[in-house]
Amino acid sequence: MGIGDAVLPDPVKFVLNWGRRYSLWVFNFGLACCAIEFIATSMGRHDFIRLGVIPFAHGPRQADLMVVSGTVTDKMAPAVKRLYEQMPEPKYVISFGACSNCGGPYWDSYSVTKGVDQIIPVDVYVPGCPPRPEALLQGILRLQDKIAGEQVSLNGGARGARAARSPERSTARVLTAPLVRPDSSP
Ligand code: SF4
Repeated sequence: MGIGDAVLPDPVKFVLNWGRRYSLWVFNFGLACCAIEFIATSMGRHDFIRLGVIPFAHGPRQADLMVVSGTVTDKMAPAVKRLYEQMPEPKYVISFGACSNCGGPYWDSYSVTKGVDQIIPVDVYVPGCPPRPEALLQGILRLQDKIAGEQVSLNGGARGARAARSPERSTARVLTAPLVRPDSSP
């Protein structure tokens, strides 16, 4: 066990988790109708900025949170996975809506992935077709509760510590990896 694996004291953990839970820079992955509800949540009426969610990250390398909102097709799935892998640790995913959760109305389609959790880990599922903006606000609160309880290490959180132990998934390795050419296989 290296120094990076040491769990930090509770006051430090509280401050770091407090900072993380209220500064979630969100990467919108709008794929279908649920994206409209996501956009509505970011607007003045529902205003998720008051919960500390910052719209919108310029790209995956700046983002902390991916909200997958809409139908994930088998053709789009490799792109979702690649962009998730480009996000630095610690990173979080909210699956927003029935399509993203399990395929929704297209669960038996030949071309739809039966849940985004088949390709990337999901922290919070928000049900509905489409879910209302209030449901996303509730999902964000659930995610913030989860972040508040995370163990923190110098490797970047509970999930970060796990990733650092795995050479393929370490943040340093991901960030220093050469760019993937668009025409290469995922
Ligand atoms: S869950 Fe319903 S509203 Fe959301 S993307 Fe699927 S079909 Fe559209």
